[in-house]
Amino acid sequence: MTELKDVKGVGPKALSLLNKLNIYTIDDLVTHYPFRYDVLERNDLSQVEDGEKIVIDGKVESVPILMRFKAGLNKINFRLVTPSGVVGVSIFNRAFLKNQLTVGTGVTVIGKLDKVKNVITASEIKMGTLSNKVRIDPVYHCTSGLTNKNLSTYINMALLMYGKEISDYIPKEYIDKYDFLNKKTALNIIHNPSTADKLKEVTIRLKYEELFAFMFKINYLKQQHKKEKNGLERKIDRSKLDKFINSIGFCLTTDQKQAVDEIINDLEAGSRMNRLLQGDVGSGKTIVAFIGMFANYLSGYQSALMAPTEILAMQHYQNLKSFLEKEQINVELLTGSTSKKEKQSIYKGLKDGSIHMIIGTHALIQDEVEYSNLGLVITDEQHRFGVHQRANLQNKGVKPDVLYMSATPIPRTYALTIFGDMDVSTIKERPKGRQKIKTYIKTNEEIKDVLAMMYKELKSNHQVYVIAPLIEDTENTSLVTVCKLKDQMKLAFGERYKIDIVHGKMANAAKDLIMEQFKNNEVHILISTTVIEVGVDVPNATTMVIFDAERFGLSTLHQLRGRVGRSSLKSQCILISDHDVDRLKIMEQVDDGFVISEEDFKLRGHGDLFGTKQSGDMAFKIANIRSDYKILLQAKKDSKEYLLNKDNEEDELKKYLIASIARG
Ligand code: ADP
Ligand code: MG
Repeated sequence: MTELKDVKGVGPKALSLLNKLNIYTIDDLVTHYPFRYDVLERNDLSQVEDGEKIVIDGKVESVPILMRFKAGLNKINFRLVTPSGVVGVSIFNRAFLKNQLTVGTGVTVIGKLDKVKNVITASEIKMGTLSNKVRIDPVYHCTSGLTNKNLSTYINMALLMYGKEISDYIPKEYIDKYDFLNKKTALNIIHNPSTADKLKEVTIRLKYEELFAFMFKINYLKQQHKKEKNGLERKIDRSKLDKFINSIGFCLTTDQKQAVDEIINDLEAGSRMNRLLQGDVGSGKTIVAFIGMFANYLSGYQSALMAPTEILAMQHYQNLKSFLEKEQINVELLTGSTSKKEKQSIYKGLKDGSIHMIIGTHALIQDEVEYSNLGLVITDEQHRFGVHQRANLQNKGVKPDVLYMSATPIPRTYALTIFGDMDVSTIKERPKGRQKIKTYIKTNEEIKDVLAMMYKELKSNHQVYVIAPLIEDTENTSLVTVCKLKDQMKLAFGERYKIDIVHGKMANAAKDLIMEQFKNNEVHILISTTVIEVGVDVPNATTMVIFDAERFGLSTLHQLRGRVGRSSLKSQCILISDHDVDRLKIMEQVDDGFVISEEDFKLRGHGDLFGTKQSGDMAFKIANIRSDYKILLQAKKDSKEYLLNKDNEEDELKKYLIASIARG
């Protein structure tokens, strides 16, 4: 493959500027797509009013005259013949254009028309006339020292010189099927579109190509994964497992049973489990994970469960301990605040195998932690291990099965991409006896009603969460803060009820203490930022009040709402907001997290669902998984079909794989 520096005109300086734009190869260069287009529509002289903007093309009629003024200013004057008459053109500070503007040259002039003097004061002169009435100019991301024009020149030069070398990542049969233009032509058009229709046609083609390559990689990896016998093969004693399941005190829902079956099958199978367990808040994922851990224990291996916060790790630890009360299983908790001495003894227990199950935070994947025979790793709440972290799980010999739990229902598009290489178990149904959480939208003026609703619940000995977007007053904000709310709530309820706050800036120990008190019904109103968003389980809390609700994404609101309604008690969620009520209304009407996440996705994109961390995975050059969902689905179907077609030689497949990896 020819190198970037071989492109005519690209010297060492240009090369380093291109590198700045992440362009390292010819392929990178020609797929440096315009991020938008300037559309110029040609005017006639007579159409444009005095002093208005004009776009007109014609031929240079007189030799341009260059005038120089003080302070380095200059001006070029010439006459232009256009289809609608002759007009004078002047342009400031473009002395360099003088040599290009020879008589007879076709140009497009953009500027302001002075009708009285019959002169256009141009802001820009582009070489070449408009071949059609409309001219579409690509606009690229540039960098200082590298202009739009430079980029366009290099790209076109690369296409001219090496167009044939540029690989096409769509297999021929699909090019034929969809009657796609060849790659070189498509690229030529995307960088030099003549009409909007053509541009649209090739845009679809290039998007499809990018998504095909991406989905191909995912399908390929998934298939390889299944083929590899690198997991633990083990037998699980089903009768002991059933006995345990029967002892947990409630009946699993059908979805939970199914998820358990899928997990047990994965554990027994020879290939490694790589499964996502997703379900709405409160759908009962945790017990499913615990059953998985118990099954793993029955087959003689250690389990590790990693939670995103200490509060959650602690909660899981306590729950698991109580579920396992009658078993002879050694469970430990390891977090950042575990004492040094305790840590040492836990490290030892993990290494010699005397600890069977460990629950913790990131502390679980520190270098010091060595496992004797880790058979199952579970991470809670969209807390995906990076490849690097997974490698950090020091384990003697065996490769553990991996289960991810997520309470953020993932929009289908997103699931297909981010989690596309995983198997998915979904829990849709909620445990029996749960009542619908009634959601209300209130304005700040109706605060009295809200307090009355809170009071009613408090009187029945139920607890209340109150959420604010900020902790303390920062400069000039009218937003409600946790601290302000504490004062207000004290005024309203302080005499009878205990009120406290937790937020992300508090020390862990202080936070845990208050959470513990809330759990034990010693704190009745808990005021918080969204730190309590994930996972916390206090069934006696029946009311969730969220101030400045418009500040939150719908998925976040849904997560917060999921903190209540966790028992058979009737629960409510009150959203307080004076703005954006239409969006919030979705919350009143919908209680299915999947539907809400789709809405959120439509409104705000994926960034809001998972933070920006994963957005790198979504870095497509031309495709957009939100707006190009249909193309994605087709590309997914086709790439799978292609992969399964045994006639395709392994080598041929590799080519697409390499291509897709190269493009991330
Ligand atoms: P998730 O993690 O999916 O948000 P949890 O696992 O925390 O939900 O479950 C919420 C609550 O429901 C817990 O108190 C749990 O013990 C209880 N629970 C789970 N499954 C069932 C079930 N099938 N029947 C009754 N209660 C259940
Ligand atoms: Mg949970």
